[in-house]
Amino acid sequence: MLDAPAVKRLADALRVALAGQRILRFHTAWRRLQCSSWPEVVAGLRLVEVASIGKNLLFHLEGGVVLFTHLSRGGRWELLPRGPWSARRDPRVKVSLTLERCRAVLYHGPIFEVLEERALASHAFLSRLGPCVLALPFDAALFARRLTHKRHLLREIADVLFDREVVAGIGNCLKSESLFEAGISPFRLAGRLDDGEQRRLGWSLSLVSQRAYRQAGRTLTDDDLALLGAIAAATEVRRHYVYGLAGAACLRCQTPIQRRRHGVSARLSFFCPTCQPED
Ligand SMILES: [Zn+2]
Repeated sequence: MLDAPAVKRLADALRVALAGQRILRFHTAWRRLQCSSWPEVVAGLRLVEVASIGKNLLFHLEGGVVLFTHLSRGGRWELLPRGPWSARRDPRVKVSLTLERCRAVLYHGPIFEVLEERALASHAFLSRLGPCVLALPFDAALFARRLTHKRHLLREIADVLFDREVVAGIGNCLKSESLFEAGISPFRLAGRLDDGEQRRLGWSLSLVSQRAYRQAGRTLTDDDLALLGAIAAATEVRRHYVYGLAGAACLRCQTPIQRRRHGVSARLSFFCPTCQPED
């Protein structure tokens, strides 16, 4: 699944390609939408902006209409040239927007809604999200309040970071890389983090996510990348500090990086046992 930096880059690309164009035709495979007045309302509106919140994409149309998608479970938007084509013949297509110069198609997306802008603040899904990890400034105080809710106290911190009501937009890579940046073991219980560690983790989540957004997913800093190239020309260039690197040497202390599963969904965490002690 895409994380917040990847969804924001997608929003940037869609904005460049689509903003300013009028939607000529709106097709959807969802019966509840077909039976509503939305297809008629959406056709004819100009697309004003494409934005992201966590892993959610929002197409803002003129007249205060918003198309909302959560890109989970294989959902993806693609741009296609205009031309003869029927979305009805392709069962993968959930939404097709025919615009003045191209076509935007949503494949497999499990969540798609058409909303009025004023309904966003009370939306059942969006209104419960924790702070977006890419928001500037990142709302570290709200993150700390959600993190320390009593239902999370006995959960491992790596598991809690996947809870979208604590922080929105975290994927497996950002989780491992942010915990490494903060020097916190993925297996510490959330309720055992002190105030300083909570602040450091919030700061690390924001820092690493901004870096991943700017660097197309790479979380390694330019300085460390240059250093790697300078000290070991034969070393395969790496993109991360720990993610996907089990057995490789930690760049800070040379300890072999480890990986371990955690939580009910048995997600993998990558970590340095020296830089991220468990006690
Ligand atoms: Zn280390």
